[in-house]
Amino acid sequence: MKILLVEDEKKVASFIKRGLEEEYYTVDVAFDGKSGRELALSQEYDLIILDIMLPFINGITLLKTIRENKISTPVLLLTARQSVESKVEGLDSGADDYLTKPFAFEELLARIRALLRRKESEKSLSLRAADLVMDLQTHSVTRNGLAISLTPKEYAVLEFLLRNKNKVISRTRLSEHVYDYHFDTDTNVIDVYINKLRNKIDKDFDRQILFTIRGVGYSIKDN
Ligand code: CA
Repeated sequence: MKILLVEDEKKVASFIKRGLEEEYYTVDVAFDGKSGRELALSQEYDLIILDIMLPFINGITLLKTIRENKISTPVLLLTARQSVESKVEGLDSGADDYLTKPFAFEELLARIRALLRRKESEKSLSLRAADLVMDLQTHSVTRNGLAISLTPKEYAVLEFLLRNKNKVISRTRLSEHVYDYHFDTDTNVIDVYINKLRNKIDKDFDRQILFTIRGVGYSIKDN
């Protein structure tokens, strides 16, 4: 799951980014409204966390721009302002939820989970391909009932492929989804993760589910 965080307080931003990465999310950070707009309009995100008071373009204006561009990604607004009017204005502008600073990180996580659940049409708590099951709550992965231990990056690669099951995903799209935008897209690194993943989820099992489509990308197939 990839999240865009637009927050101008560097300390707050790095605290949130680090905490979310520990929870297996990939996070892009923008420190002002302008670069936030650039990322929001050019990249694919599962969720956007938006501070309201931002340099150049404030969070509410940015949110309106995002919605005007028909991007329906869930948006969680963060703000120090506690007035009822600003909450109403935020929700009226297309925000899905609202959190007032300072907040407990646990609460931020709970709200993120709730928004992502709401976004998933099938509301499923797990992803499957053949006998492989990924539990989205506990981050555990099993195949034929056997526990498979994955690193956060391996998990992120597998999760994205599972969410796009039976489709072919290019290495570029995969690396864009799994890394933040500071990452120099050396797609060879994706090949390394795919090989590790293949050793863990396919090697000791009869049926192959992770496929390399030469010159195109990768695919998890179960049909
Ligand atoms: Ca701010």
